[in-house]
Amino acid sequence: MGGVHGNEPAGIHALKEVQRMLDYEPEMNSEFRFCGQVVGLIGNLRAVSIGERYIDVDLNRSWLSHHLDRALGDEDDFLLSEEKEMREILSTIDQHIDTYKPEKIYLLDIHTTSAKAGLFTIVSDDPESRRIGMDMHAPVILGMIQGIQGTLMKHFTDSYRGIPVVTATFEGGQHREPKSVSRSVSAIINFLRSASAVYPHDVESKHDDLLAADTAYLPRLAELIYSHKILPDDGFRMKPGYRNFQPIYSGEHLADTIDGPVLAQYDGLILMPLYQRKGTDGYYIIKELESRASI
Ligand SMILES: [Zn+2]
Repeated sequence: MGGVHGNEPAGIHALKEVQRMLDYEPEMNSEFRFCGQVVGLIGNLRAVSIGERYIDVDLNRSWLSHHLDRALGDEDDFLLSEEKEMREILSTIDQHIDTYKPEKIYLLDIHTTSAKAGLFTIVSDDPESRRIGMDMHAPVILGMIQGIQGTLMKHFTDSYRGIPVVTATFEGGQHREPKSVSRSVSAIINFLRSASAVYPHDVESKHDDLLAADTAYLPRLAELIYSHKILPDDGFRMKPGYRNFQPIYSGEHLADTIDGPVLAQYDGLILMPLYQRKGTDGYYIIKELESRASI
């Protein structure tokens, strides 16, 4: 899944590139085998068409019963744009399930961030999800799935229509950074390998190398300790210059709102400082659990 946020085209470009690679591979390598079926989906088509994060509500915060009930109801008029997207995503996935009848589903949701160096993976509590996250080499952030409500990943985590689902989210870097596409391609390829859709001997080591090189200076495992919610009329403005994984200290002046300065609540590393107009979270604070040097 790419383009759940309409201003994050890297995941869509990466899915198209992987489709091209999979079409081409059997011609180059007669031994190549693909097990299963891969489906690439663009999440928020309407928002992608205008390059905005969302139209009415954030599609990655809307998988909650009041939106789902409307998306799955009979009403066609007065649906929010993202409720229409939810309806279309579910119906497309359902059609694939009905024709292919999978025993198990692996869902990878690809995103990018507005701040620099946004390279990380969100996993569920399922040990297989954590293993898959580690295989993508980016820092694995625990607690995000519980800490952010209404995400697409959370909706599908564990099972869908009685079918087991293993989920992960990959954040490939900054929205417009060209390397966000190549990292996302490598993450998808590694994800296919981890899900046993392709054999390890058919996967080039360059995908591991690219991801490992770009994450060498980042934590291996971290945990969410705080998320800073904002309201549309907060006037929230992040102070300039923060990068993902930058150390911050309790009391540090991070942002301003109409009510005054926002000071860091804890010591830790900052994640996803908001440098775009639309968003419901100003920043997150995470704590490093395992560094790469310790393994
Ligand atoms: Zn996103």
